Amino acid sequence: MSKLSIKDLDLKGGRVFVRVDFNVPIKEGKVTDDTRIRAAVPTIEYAIGEGARVILASHLGRPKGERVEKYSLRPVAEHLSEVLGKPVAFADDCVGEAAESAAARLKDGEVLLLENLRFHPEEEKNDDGFAAQLAKLSDGLYVNDAFGAAHRAHASTAGITRHVEKAAAGLLMEKELEYLGRALNNPERPFVAILGGAKVSDKIPVINSLISRKVDKILVGGAMAYTFFKAEGFNTGKSLVEDDMLDTAREIKQRAEAEGVRLVLPTDHQVVDSFDPLNSRKTIPVEFTNQGLVGLDIGRETVALFARELEGAKTIIWNGPMGMFEEKGFEEGTVGLAHAVAEAADKGATVIVGGGDSVSAIHQAGVAEKITHISTGGGATLEFLAGDELPGVAALTDK
Ligand code: AMP
Repeated sequence: MSKLSIKDLDLKGGRVFVRVDFNVPIKEGKVTDDTRIRAAVPTIEYAIGEGARVILASHLGRPKGERVEKYSLRPVAEHLSEVLGKPVAFADDCVGEAAESAAARLKDGEVLLLENLRFHPEEEKNDDGFAAQLAKLSDGLYVNDAFGAAHRAHASTAGITRHVEKAAAGLLMEKELEYLGRALNNPERPFVAILGGAKVSDKIPVINSLISRKVDKILVGGAMAYTFFKAEGFNTGKSLVEDDMLDTAREIKQRAEAEGVRLVLPTDHQVVDSFDPLNSRKTIPVEFTNQGLVGLDIGRETVALFARELEGAKTIIWNGPMGMFEEKGFEEGTVGLAHAVAEAADKGATVIVGGGDSVSAIHQAGVAEKITHISTGGGATLEFLAGDELPGVAALTDK
């Protein structure tokens, strides 16, 4: 990596500001899924072990620049304390007197979590004065371990680096960049990408980048597939289609053909009757779709087809659900695909999965331990795979 790593810093006795991604679900004051917290633990424990005074900062939800109690990080401090098996102090604000006195009280190896960065509108505006206030809490040492937020140029991910001596990547950030970077720049082939989710428009840069890098195949599922079908003149009924993307879908298909990249679309899907959605679920070939039907998931034949397409693959990247994953019954295609990618991993493929729904499906299928790398980023993973430099990475100090 061309950027400083936390391992390049002399942390002993120093106050280090660590940007983490603790944007976790909280219900009634309790953290309900601590995956993101656990993902940051190696970096936190490393810093503690080096004798640093650790100041953690994160965003949570979208409080829109105001103090909103339900987005307080206080429950996260309690949870983290249990995970680390040591006290975690909490400051009621991320800047100003509360934060400064809490940071000043820290002793070597102690941990402080600051209140939600997004309680201040200056955070998302990348305000320079606010960034300087954050930086002031540290002894000129900054670590970014929030890969999931690295595609945003905010005060805590970008601006702050102008006010510290050294800005380094945390262990999670390094791991993400290493796996994703290798897949993008030096993939073992055959290389297969699987894309799903709602919108083609969100994924155009990724698709174009994957085609330029001559990925061998792109398997397309989810509502995205309907835009491709409609562009080909198929009846997609009342399925979700981006009508303003039909020309783009045709262009993508032509580019893929020209570059020798195979675009594989579903052959069957689960549909419901738009007038009687609860009782009418059935699986039909995609070409039988009529005007009253809505496609909500890929069918079993497609899961089997995609599984066959993955045979022999050496690198697989998957982002986005194959259907309306959050509705009961329509998660089957996505979970079926999770089993298929796990099987490919068993047979030696490097498998990288990113994005909330695909990662949930991996856990639902109980195959998480087979996956080479589960990315903590959604938007950040996509932007990275699109070949864009992430502002939160670009801002770190060069080695
Ligand atoms: P994205 O944010 O682009 O990854 O899209 C995720 C969303 O796509 C999820 O909320 C899914 O419910 C939705 N989605 C996937 N397939 C379909 C479909 N066939 N019809 C409607 N929504 C879908």
